[in-house]
Amino acid sequence: MTFIDFCLIIIIRDIYGIQKGEQIMRCPYCDYEDTKVIDSRFNEGKQRRRRICTVCGKRFTTYESIERPELLVLKKNNTYEPFDKAKLIRGLSFAVKKRPVSGQEIVRIADEIESLAFPMGQISTAQISDIALEKLKKLDSVAYVRFASVNKEFDSVERFLETIELLRTDDVQKK
Ligand SMILES: [Zn+2]
Repeated sequence: MTFIDFCLIIIIRDIYGIQKGEQIMRCPYCDYEDTKVIDSRFNEGKQRRRRICTVCGKRFTTYESIERPELLVLKKNNTYEPFDKAKLIRGLSFAVKKRPVSGQEIVRIADEIESLAFPMGQISTAQISDIALEKLKKLDSVAYVRFASVNKEFDSVERFLETIELLRTDDVQKK
């Protein structure tokens, strides 16, 4: 058994992790820290590296893949939580219940919000509901009002009625 291939799956959590992972790669046979990369190729989103241990001379393979960085949501109380697409889809689904809006359209809205937010690394709940409302407005006014009533903070019934009134004037202008 001279050629035993050892595969290590390394999940790198952040950029620091990538650097650390590349600098220190312990030999799985003798546990020595210094191994040399003899071949490197990128395949199916993974970096495959063939390595050789400088002490025992054994070879092994590592596969490295980058975990998608986390997207954070800034809540009204100034705390952060990870972006939860399923939760957003649930909120949107509630708003479009029994309305002529398909599940696909809902998922598309959630995908679009996620793609918009990713380059920024974070998004606030207020921004999420504003974008969602902008998109719902084009699809269905009842869904728009339902979503607004749950997700937007209205300081009074009058403010809420104003929002609906605005929507109505928009509708009239379109016709
Ligand atoms: Zn070794």
